[in-house]
Amino acid sequence: MKRAFVIGDPIKHSRSPVIHQHWISQHGLDARYEAIHVKPSELGNFMALVRHGDFAGGNVTLPHKETIKTLLTKITSTARAIGAINTIYRDKDGGDLAGDNTDAYGFSANLDDHAPKWRDGTKALILGAGGAARAIVYAMVDVGYTDIVIVNRTAEKADSLAKEFGKACRASSFDQLPTELPEADCLVNTTSLGMNGQPSLEIDLSSAQSNLVVNDIVYAPLETALLEQARKRGMIPVDGLGMLLHQAVPGFERWFGEQPVVDAELRDLVISDLNGDR
Ligand code: NAP
Repeated sequence: MKRAFVIGDPIKHSRSPVIHQHWISQHGLDARYEAIHVKPSELGNFMALVRHGDFAGGNVTLPHKETIKTLLTKITSTARAIGAINTIYRDKDGGDLAGDNTDAYGFSANLDDHAPKWRDGTKALILGAGGAARAIVYAMVDVGYTDIVIVNRTAEKADSLAKEFGKACRASSFDQLPTELPEADCLVNTTSLGMNGQPSLEIDLSSAQSNLVVNDIVYAPLETALLEQARKRGMIPVDGLGMLLHQAVPGFERWFGEQPVVDAELRDLVISDLNGDR
């Protein structure tokens, strides 16, 4: 039996088992995907077990996404640029453990699904400069956006992220949004604002183009106030659940050798699971 894991501290909240178990049954595989609670002090021992054991690989969530780097033999260029690992797999030429980050892939695949014209844009507004923003700025640079504007509460973090990702990026502030919005093709909220239990994101989209792609990577609730506003203005709203589902695809392919699909059935299953938590 092939086995894969998701590790974190805490781990109970992870939706990854629902996603991967669904694909395992859909493909009729003799495989298991398990959530394992691993504290920071246990990470070294757990990875030694993985290295010598029968796991094909797994996912990594907080607080291990950065510290795990030192326990791997290889890190993909994407994960190195984003600065965090979320997927571990066995490298083809041996049992070596490699680390990747699939959030940029998940972000792009979600927009490809729901707003394919996003690839033709040139100016993006990215709200937030945390871990998720790093993956999204990476994806925007990769797709060829030439004016990537990073807006964050803590200005220094926006500045340093913009500098790190090169000449297509610059920092701005929430005050400047009314002047930045009219030329934007794509707006992405990567802050935790608007998430259940968090303050809401106050933003007026009235000066934006009517075909603005508005992506909120917050997925609880599924339709945030930002997406509701975009929908009511006839813009192109894209929720964050697709990113969560698509980021799981590369790991499943590597561990189990099958290409899974992100479809309505999987989406409904994860929505029911999210609703069950309320
Ligand atoms: P993070 O590294 O902690 O970053 C949080 C960001 O939110 C920072 O830019 C922070 O600004 C900003 N923020 C927090 N509270 C704020 C407030 N009251 N006012 C203004 N800005 C505020 O978190 P993350 O890992 O990037 O995750 C961010 C969100 O994305 C979470 O809701 C997470 O669930 C979601 N997410 C979704 C997916 C998906 O697959 N859909 C994937 C990853 C993350 P400061 O720098 O000023 O603190």
